[in-house]
Amino acid sequence: MLAAALATAACGSGSTQTTAAATGKPEVVAAFYPLQWLSEQVGGSDAQVTVLTAPGVEPHDLELGIKQVTDIKNAALTVYIKGIQPAVDDAVEPDKSFDAATAVATLPAGEHEEHAEHEEHAGESEEEHAEHADVSYDPHIWLDPSRLATVATKLGERMAAADPAHAQGYRDRTAKTAATLTGLDQELSQGLSTCRSKTLVTAHEAFGYLADRYKLKQVGITLDPEMEPSPARLSEVAKLAKSEGVTTVFTESLVSPKVAEVLASQVGAKTAVLDPLESKPAGDYVSAMRDNLKTLQTALGCMA
Ligand SMILES: [Zn+2]
Repeated sequence: MLAAALATAACGSGSTQTTAAATGKPEVVAAFYPLQWLSEQVGGSDAQVTVLTAPGVEPHDLELGIKQVTDIKNAALTVYIKGIQPAVDDAVEPDKSFDAATAVATLPAGEHEEHAEHEEHAGESEEEHAEHADVSYDPHIWLDPSRLATVATKLGERMAAADPAHAQGYRDRTAKTAATLTGLDQELSQGLSTCRSKTLVTAHEAFGYLADRYKLKQVGITLDPEMEPSPARLSEVAKLAKSEGVTTVFTESLVSPKVAEVLASQVGAKTAVLDPLESKPAGDYVSAMRDNLKTLQTALGCMA
């Protein structure tokens, strides 16, 4: 752990500081990919954006190195979502941070999470649960582009206020970003309007907001992929998936596909990769969401 922290520190050593000092641009620290993408769109050439979660790293429960904590302290603004990364939640300062979850209407965390809390004997330890029970809502807000458009607008106001000399630039880019996200929302809305199945089965329940927005039903195991799935919940989901005739169980590249594979074999379904955008995709947020749309259309039997 220490070695990893030191390696991280060595990696980014001084670079952000030097750049910020050289350019005089406000430094914005984004907690993980979708917030990085959004900050870059809104900040453009007026801000220096860095990210805490390296590409290819699963952001849930990220540990912070000393360098990263210092970056947060020195940044003009840290953009994060409370409830995903407790170390980030602890490191941010209220007047220099933007919690994207406060910008939108959130959805409650899955009902079965609460059940698990009451059933201490049901496999998962009390400690483990307490660690993740920081917030009562589902934190995966970025998977609904319409909500992300709202976040963009609020973030733009915040960045314009923090750097008034360039306020107009932030406002222009914010309007452009919100328009891009609204267009993407319409593509998804049309593309998912007529599907044979509406049930989205996934091990990592990252798609609650996508399901909410496009009238799909997410059936999943846990909000945090680093948590051990409870056998009771696993068999409950398998039963539901079977009764709904589900043909595909969704998995993702940064999390072990084991749980999804076990589930798929119990249900007699295949697996497909749906990107929760928690780390940088091959393209960007918009292209990865379009890929997700295609994957969903195939798996759920939607008319194009
Ligand atoms: Zn997640």
